[in-house]
Amino acid sequence: MIALVHGIIDSVAMTSRLTSRHLHLDSLAVHAGREDLQDLGVHALPIDLSTTNPLPGIDAGGLSYEAMATGGIPDPEGGAVYARLWNPTVARFESALARLEHTTEAVAFASGMAALTAAVLATTHDSGRRHVLAVRPLYGGSDHLLASGLLGAEVTFCSAHDVARRLRPDTAMVVMETPANPTLDLVDIRAVCDAAGDVPVLVDNTFATPVLQNPVDFGAALVLHSATKYLGGHGDVVGGVIACDESYAASLRRVRAVTGGILHPLGGYLLHRGLATLPLRVRAQQANAQRIAAWLETHPGVWRVYYPGLAYDESGLVGRQMKGPGAMIAVELRGGYEQARSLTSTVELFTHAVSLGGVDSLIQHPAALTHRPVASEAKPPASLVRLSVGIEDHEDLMADLDRGLGAHTASRGAAAAVPRG
Ligand SMILES: *Cc1c(COP(=O)(O)O)cnc(C)c1O
Repeated sequence: MIALVHGIIDSVAMTSRLTSRHLHLDSLAVHAGREDLQDLGVHALPIDLSTTNPLPGIDAGGLSYEAMATGGIPDPEGGAVYARLWNPTVARFESALARLEHTTEAVAFASGMAALTAAVLATTHDSGRRHVLAVRPLYGGSDHLLASGLLGAEVTFCSAHDVARRLRPDTAMVVMETPANPTLDLVDIRAVCDAAGDVPVLVDNTFATPVLQNPVDFGAALVLHSATKYLGGHGDVVGGVIACDESYAASLRRVRAVTGGILHPLGGYLLHRGLATLPLRVRAQQANAQRIAAWLETHPGVWRVYYPGLAYDESGLVGRQMKGPGAMIAVELRGGYEQARSLTSTVELFTHAVSLGGVDSLIQHPAALTHRPVASEAKPPASLVRLSVGIEDHEDLMADLDRGLGAHTASRGAAAAVPRG
């Protein structure tokens, strides 16, 4: 274990070697966070499941414990002590994700919501301020958590252009999401950060992934991912992570050590392994989504398509802030809630399920599910369904949607013929 701790701590220092070589995203996705493997004599990522670690002595163990309980990393002499404080498998994933997000550090949590919880606790505690300003729309769970009052912070909601006006002297953090859930609204990160001034801005980058967008390049202090989604990419791990600088990382690690929201090592392993194919997956999913969105726009059963890759998006942010429009699509159906019901129950290749970002396509109804706890003024319309486009063949996906959209028309006795794209 001590050797493992030495290795991973050395590897954090060694990441500068990768920087100096200016590796591109695709190379970093495969190689970052694996710098100590050669010295360990292994090629695949090791999974360290120990909950506790033999102590070299009371003094060294105690000092290491002290370092981690206050936000540091293990002292190489004292080791990792206890798995709630630090874990080498998780630390490798963190160092890789930090590289992809252009930050020096990252801190991983048991879920995206555990990560957001830690960000609120850390920023309010450290600044002695108790107000959080949240830009709507947000993921339903984030909206719910922030509105709940559970974290002791006073949270107010506003729109992106209202940030400067709604900021208060006691604002500890601004929270925003782009593309935002579920309507894929693009929010100008630079504009929000400028409006926030010295107040740190947290950007939920779950939908864009570091392949398409790096919020710190536009002024964000904290970049949050529900790693459950694209980072994992295979629908088999729940996790969260925040990329940030050393000082926020120390503060987040302290909250994590004390409250216990650490990511399990198996999750750290799966997420790190998933990063290797992240650029390939995101680009393949995006190419599918672009075709499906354009086809849906011409479909008679569809009233409106929300996808940043379509002509309606006049934000100018695709290309400038985001390298591409991503792979999430929202669709308003002409037949409203009834059609949403028949579509979600007729599709076969799309799974009717919440979550997103995996290699397989999903469809869900935000107002009934992911955005159920959201206040009525911020709730998505009943005619809206959300698609997470996977890596299947796009023609098979379109045929599946076409059949599902036709089922409603057919059930109403209207002409079932719909044009094929
Ligand atoms: C799913 C999701 C979250 C919450 O993450 P969990 O891992 O489910 O806790 C936060 N933000 C966005 C945008 C999400 O899609």
